Amino acid sequence: MLSLTTPLEQISGIGSILQKRLKKLGIKTINDLFFHFPRRYEDFSNLIPISEIKINEICTIQGKILEIKTIRTWKRKMFITQALLQDKTGAIKITWFNQPYLTKIIKGGDSLIVSGKVASGKRGTYLSGPVYEKIKPGVDLIHTGRLVPVYPETAGLSSRWLRYILKPLLVNLKNKIPESLPEKIIKENKFLSINKALWQIHFPDSKILAKKAQERFSFEELFFIELFVLREKARLSKEKAVSIPFNLNLIKKFVGPLPFKLTDAQKKSAWQILKDLEKERPMNRLLEGDVGSGKTVVATMAALSVAKAGWQAAFMAPTEILAKQHFQEVSKLLQDFNLNIGLLTGKQDQFRSKKLKNEVIEISRKKLLEKTLKGELDILIGTHALIQDKVKFGKLALVILDEQHRFGVEQRAKLLKESRIKNQESRPIPHLLSMTATPIPRTLTLTVYGDLDLSLIDELPKGRKKIITKVIPPKDRQSTYDFIKKQVKKGRQIFVICPRIEPGNSEGSEKEITSWAEVKAVKEEYEKLSKEIFPDLRVEMLYGKMTPKEKEKIMKDFRNKKTDVLVSTSVIEVGVDVPNATVMMIEGAERFGLAQLHQFRGRVGRASYQSYCLLFTDSPAKRTRQRLKALITSEDGFKLAEKDLEIRGPGDFSGIRQWGIPDLMMNSLKDIKLVEKTRNSAKEILRENPELKKYPLLQEKLGKFRKRIHLE
Ligand code: ADP
Ligand code: MG
Repeated sequence: MLSLTTPLEQISGIGSILQKRLKKLGIKTINDLFFHFPRRYEDFSNLIPISEIKINEICTIQGKILEIKTIRTWKRKMFITQALLQDKTGAIKITWFNQPYLTKIIKGGDSLIVSGKVASGKRGTYLSGPVYEKIKPGVDLIHTGRLVPVYPETAGLSSRWLRYILKPLLVNLKNKIPESLPEKIIKENKFLSINKALWQIHFPDSKILAKKAQERFSFEELFFIELFVLREKARLSKEKAVSIPFNLNLIKKFVGPLPFKLTDAQKKSAWQILKDLEKERPMNRLLEGDVGSGKTVVATMAALSVAKAGWQAAFMAPTEILAKQHFQEVSKLLQDFNLNIGLLTGKQDQFRSKKLKNEVIEISRKKLLEKTLKGELDILIGTHALIQDKVKFGKLALVILDEQHRFGVEQRAKLLKESRIKNQESRPIPHLLSMTATPIPRTLTLTVYGDLDLSLIDELPKGRKKIITKVIPPKDRQSTYDFIKKQVKKGRQIFVICPRIEPGNSEGSEKEITSWAEVKAVKEEYEKLSKEIFPDLRVEMLYGKMTPKEKEKIMKDFRNKKTDVLVSTSVIEVGVDVPNATVMMIEGAERFGLAQLHQFRGRVGRASYQSYCLLFTDSPAKRTRQRLKALITSEDGFKLAEKDLEIRGPGDFSGIRQWGIPDLMMNSLKDIKLVEKTRNSAKEILRENPELKKYPLLQEKLGKFRKRIHLE
């Protein structure tokens, strides 16, 4: 007896090789297979007589094979299978390339249905490489003559094979699949039942029914996400956190000596955060502010308040360069406050103690960890290294996560969970302040990013000039180089970003391959720029794989104006703050998302000099130009993120892939109405039934969901 949980090993027709390929897609059971949805449908439902075919149009024809043979062309070393198909109105030639086995499958006299494009050549009209299916009495068509599902492409798993394996399984389990949505929701929304919807999503009877099935599953997908995040939020709100008193004098003492006036948006955000910290339940707040809007000072106020109340703050950044920069910046901002501040990265640790106001000392990892555990350290700044098992805080009350979008859902969850354990027993769990400059579209903050409280810094400090953004076509390359030389003459500095390289399909972990390929690209660009283009300038390069010492030196030299041009991978995408740099030059600009390009652009224009963002692209594609144009016309990171969502889909927002949302459903993450609808439904269900006791199937599915996004 088959059921949804039957593993695929037990199904005849799926050999071990295919099982492996399926596993790669996360498909292990019948259920997984059923929920591997087609990406689109090919409409082969329109059957026409041969007499009515039109050149260049897709048509579906049913007839009898008169003859079929395969020949081999010696010149091009190709197999060509030729057949003649006849119906009542005429006959047409069919040609297939390089599928000699077809003559074994299709014989003269067979009834065949084919769908494909009508072509015309020297020897008349023919069908080129059509999809075919033999007609057998009593057997439904699955490849032609209907709406045919097309699945996401994966090496070695064809849509044809998936259809072939799916159909009998769907027949076998017809009407036996338990309903996963509460009946009330189905009725209210007039959804298809799960059984009908599964059938219709794979083998739809009509476009309308395919759409109805999609609607149901889109709803369901979002509904689970909503249930999940709402329940997590409810759980979190029951936890205890340390209340950090709002200390107005302290804040005044901090703000007074700053070399600038805080913007109103900074003040408002700081107020919201400090008010949250006063509460006895853990804060979960996202501070969203465009690049250069000054999030660091706001976060520093929070860390200061916590430290002065006798607790610890951890400040985590996605890269070493940024962690280091924060360490310097925060140390400077807090130099009059008598605090111990530590830096912990992959390899190098530093420490700035109360006594050594402006001096930084190297410290052993062991000592740093000891101080952290004893609670002697007030603020610990670092990279992912902060969430290693060895790092234990004695009195952690606040975690600040900079550029939170660079951390996966998993890491964020781990951080929260572990920080609880790391705090010594039964201590309250820390408040969480995440920060991002990549604005998250509303549909996403309401769904996958959870139900965060949001603070917005929606204005830039005064006096910043608009950054001039230009797309540079190949013919203007030389004159642009001349322009850059002039900028350097004026004393300014230049960033050059090398194109992103997509991971290849070879062995080894994807990350490794990407970064080595990128190292190569950086080296080549560096050679070219330092030897040929700017032989008189001081050019340096930077990439993630350098040792921390090397990276530090390169950044320090750049900051101290010992370097004119810094060639880099996207490691400097986030947060890096060098006010004297005025040109951001990006090679292969089409390979980056708009939000990321906007981030790069944010590395310049950080002082009062006129700054430039120059986008180099060789791609003539219209879509590319259209995307890059959005960057020129908009300085608003939020609008760009929405645009990214519209053009490239939500899959590009980091962390989204982790939710394993099927491609076909991704679009629902753009649909604010749907998001709000699912959210209301989820809220209603939880209001009546917070533990979902009435819905064991929902509970079970949620459990699986948790596993799927690796939270357990
Ligand atoms: P981001 O929000 O991108 O992290 P930063 O916190 O790095 O921005 O701030 C960018 C720069 O702006 C820093 O050099 C910082 O000192 C400066 N800055 C922050 N707030 C203000 C302000 N209100 N007025 C002027 N400059 C500011
Ligand atoms: Mg920043």
